Amino acid sequence: MRALDGGTASAAVTSRYGTSLYGAWVSDADVLCSAKGCRAAATVVLSWRNPRLHDAARVKTWLACDEHADHLAQFLEVRGFLLSRAAVDE
Ligand SMILES: [Zn+2]
Repeated sequence: MRALDGGTASAAVTSRYGTSLYGAWVSDADVLCSAKGCRAAATVVLSWRNPRLHDAARVKTWLACDEHADHLAQFLEVRGFLLSRAAVDE
């Protein structure tokens, strides 16, 4: 009986992707690259903190696409702000 439920769910997913194909990159604002002017899908999460402005509990995150991940990570690292770098889908 549960197998039928699985079939229904995958059909719904296929239909959702079909109708939102063009909106996907624009509407999912929380997974776009943080680089100025870049609207690519983010693949990397950079966690950072400016110790002069933020206390230890305050962690900021930037999202970056493949193209900008190294640039943004280096920007933070040279200032001593970078805490961690992880893949978005982790
Ligand atoms: Zn980018």
